Amino acid sequence: MNIDIVLKLQKKGLFLHNVVYFLFLFHRVFLQFDNADMPWNHTIIMGIFLVLCVMVEELIALHDGFNNIKIMRGIRLIQYAFCLIMIIFTKINSESGLVMYVLLLMFTADLILTIDCTEFISILLCVGELEVLIIILIIIKVVIDGNNGLGTMLFSVFLSGAVLIGQACIIGEYTDIKDRELFKEKRKFESMLEKNENILNMQKTLQNTNDQLNAQKIDLKRANKQIQEANEEMKVQEEIMRHIASSFDVTDISKRIVDSVMDVKNLVFCAVYIRGKVYHNKHRNYVIRSKNSEMDEMIKQHIEEIYSSMIRTDEFEKTLNDNIDEELPFLSKFNINSVYIKVLGNNEDRYGIFMIGDNRMNLFDDNMSFYNAVTAQSNISITNAKMYNDMQHMARTDGLTGINNRVYFNQLFKETTSRIIEENGCISVALFDIDKFKNVNDTYGHLAGDEAIKCIATVTEEYIDEYDGFICRYGGEEFVCVLPNRDINEAKPIIRGLFEKLCEQVVVYNEFEIPLSVSVGLTAYPKPCDDIEQLLKHADWCMYYAKEHGRHQLKSDDGSVIKNN
Ligand code: GH3
Ligand code: MG
Ligand code: MG
Repeated sequence: MNIDIVLKLQKKGLFLHNVVYFLFLFHRVFLQFDNADMPWNHTIIMGIFLVLCVMVEELIALHDGFNNIKIMRGIRLIQYAFCLIMIIFTKINSESGLVMYVLLLMFTADLILTIDCTEFISILLCVGELEVLIIILIIIKVVIDGNNGLGTMLFSVFLSGAVLIGQACIIGEYTDIKDRELFKEKRKFESMLEKNENILNMQKTLQNTNDQLNAQKIDLKRANKQIQEANEEMKVQEEIMRHIASSFDVTDISKRIVDSVMDVKNLVFCAVYIRGKVYHNKHRNYVIRSKNSEMDEMIKQHIEEIYSSMIRTDEFEKTLNDNIDEELPFLSKFNINSVYIKVLGNNEDRYGIFMIGDNRMNLFDDNMSFYNAVTAQSNISITNAKMYNDMQHMARTDGLTGINNRVYFNQLFKETTSRIIEENGCISVALFDIDKFKNVNDTYGHLAGDEAIKCIATVTEEYIDEYDGFICRYGGEEFVCVLPNRDINEAKPIIRGLFEKLCEQVVVYNEFEIPLSVSVGLTAYPKPCDDIEQLLKHADWCMYYAKEHGRHQLKSDDGSVIKNN
């Protein structure tokens, strides 16, 4: 309860209280003088009590109720207690008793006003007071009627009524104030509700804006991710381009392409297959990277077949999604859901295929620009490598026979001998020349001579290849065979075998059958020739020896050739 209201009400009641006290006082004094039998001590005690009550009321008025509801409550309780004591010592059927009851009623009301109670309880208490008063009046009527006459009765009723009306007014005002307060509270509550609703609406708007911002944030994040991916892809393409420009090694380029795709796209597998004889490569080239070594093996086993079937059906590229199990059954156990295959090469020439796969669904249905760029770059790189290798091949090979020419042989021989010296190894060299070749030309024509030279070159290359050696056309109808890591004893039977094979050759040209014979000189490092630089010279001396000694023979270096010449 608001202390200001209580104090205000209490102060308002002061005047009424003082009136009641004085009326009672005068009434008592009047009765005392009127009735000589009345005990004086009662009148004095009552007088003191009433004067004290007036003083207390004045003190309250003077000090604004001490601005403390607890003190007020204490004062009223003391008054109440005194009043009860007075009632105990007063005769119930006397005028004093009636006065005390009226005062008790008044103090009760004042006490209640200092207690925090709801409006409903205040009304109840008010009614309660009325009932108490009625009971008192009935008691007075029943007990003292007749003894004190009608005057006393009417005075008592008048006083009680006055107190009751006064108290009812105070309580009524209190209720009214409370009502207004409640109304104010209600208004406050309503305005708070209104404000709350406004805040809720604002919150909703904020939430909406927030949602929109979040959606924009997500869009931005996605866009950012796409930009990052595009950047990453561009970087990879740039790297591949740079690599292509600096390398003609197709295996190396393929490896770079596969690694880049796997790193950027995080696929399950990526493979590049290049068929044989594209860039003078004897063997097929496979670069396969996957997340499973068994898958690597399976792809290696089937990739050539996939390439051949696409060439047969004249397909350039294909994307597989639901039909992987039927088309590529070897992948069925690896849970691959998207596959993309592209044939490498151009309309004139197909080199191989680029193949990628992943377990994500429909991964290669769109956004293929990165892969298209990668395969386009692969094509460029392989074409470049092919061109480069063609040129290199031309520079290194002899135009008529297709075997190494003397320029490339010198380079190859130098590299090989350096390695042999480093490794403390051995090497054998055989030099041979077709016997009486001038006669072949003279007898069968120059073209027949060419055929004979080609035949000798092809047979020799095939033969020496098997022994990991290399050959070259050293001069017109003169050839060199090199057998690295073979000493003279190992080389002798090999070269003898070659000699016999060559002498068996009969070149068929038009209607002619041209028999051939060769003279061969063989030497080796470190024995019998301890100077690797002199190997070719020694082989030449041996061959010269063979020519000198009747041709159609193999002369091995025995250290005496120089002397004999
Ligand atoms: P030998 O070696 O047994 O002493 O007698 P040869 O008749 O082979 O002697 P020589 O070395 O003097 O002759 C080699 C001939 O080979 C001369 C040349 O006309 C011929 N010749 C060189 N290069 C070619 C070629 O590319 N094609 C043809 N058809 N003949 C060539
Ligand atoms: Mg000759
Ligand atoms: Mg010759």
